[in-house]
Amino acid sequence: MKVPFLDLTLSHQPLRAEILAAWASTLDGNRFCLGRDVEEFEKAFGAACGTTDSVGLDNGTTALQLAAQALGLGPGDDIVVPAFTFIASAWTATYIGARPVFADIDPAHFCVTAATIRAALTPQTKAIVVVHLFGQPAPMDEILALAAERGLKVIEDCAQAHLARYRDRPVGLMGDAGTFSFYPTKNLGGCGEGGALVSRHAEVLKRVRILRVHGSERRYYHDFVGGNFRMEGLQAAVLNIKLRHLSGWTARRRSIAARYRAGLKLAELAVPQVPEWGEAVFHQFTVTHPRRDALREHLAKAEIATDLIYPMPLHLQPCYASLGYRPGSMPQAERICATCVSLPIFPELTEEQVDHVIASVNSF
Ligand SMILES: *Cc1c(COP(=O)(O)O)cnc(C)c1O
Repeated sequence: MKVPFLDLTLSHQPLRAEILAAWASTLDGNRFCLGRDVEEFEKAFGAACGTTDSVGLDNGTTALQLAAQALGLGPGDDIVVPAFTFIASAWTATYIGARPVFADIDPAHFCVTAATIRAALTPQTKAIVVVHLFGQPAPMDEILALAAERGLKVIEDCAQAHLARYRDRPVGLMGDAGTFSFYPTKNLGGCGEGGALVSRHAEVLKRVRILRVHGSERRYYHDFVGGNFRMEGLQAAVLNIKLRHLSGWTARRRSIAARYRAGLKLAELAVPQVPEWGEAVFHQFTVTHPRRDALREHLAKAEIATDLIYPMPLHLQPCYASLGYRPGSMPQAERICATCVSLPIFPELTEEQVDHVIASVNSF
């Protein structure tokens, strides 16, 4: 039985006619850059995040950069970033001339903790990028307490965590700004690029809105150095449709994860823990095994596609060689990179496919 890692066709096919009709309307209305579709999406996505508004952007990487800019961070500042995440989390610092300082992660949930952040603090540290990795909320109470103690800004990278909650609080609104990606493979994805930012500070939302249109509030007058970071109308049109399905898709991801957690029984296999504080949304279902490569080969023979997310921690990436980190400096992140493998988890997987994955892992 073939099990793909992800098949976007399966989620788009039932919505195809509706998406094409929405695109026809956007086309006929010439609503290409911002416009009514984007405004509608910003309100609806804000509501889904537990607030009233969001700012639509061209992608999630931009959302991180603008969060840092809107919070007044810049050259001379250090920003704590997890060593185990997607590279864009670190661009948050690099793009604005700040320095990323890496924090190790807790292998139980793959996120940073107050203790790992504390170990990374420098006198110049001004902010933390907290990544709710794989859709698992980080331990926010202790992180927010540390941030308050040290006067640090908190940016929540929610690119993999749409609709996740921490002790009944939605992700993105606990820190100073929350950023989302709508890259096609994310839990909510467009048919192209997209991103959004939410914040409990009206000032931050206002500043990001200005930055995304060349730092201009009044046409051709530029109070800030901004850029072109607008969300496209055609992306908002499809996101408006897909957003209505997000909670159903999320429930399905959770039920697949529960089935995996109940069924996977293999010596030395570590299955993701679900800490009591978090309502995870399982963007990935990532397990670890000391013989990861052999396990992947075994699954490939059973026609099960897996992925390696992520094979290399950020502190050892060649682009950050000048920061001077050495192997061994982030032992947990390094061990996870060497032993992790992500299993297929997307809403359209059938029970038979999930059972085939479980049986194949268990027979390794
Ligand atoms: C996808 C992702 C981003 C970047 O989003 P893009 O829309 O691809 O720019 C940032 N952080 C994390 C953790 C991501 O997974």
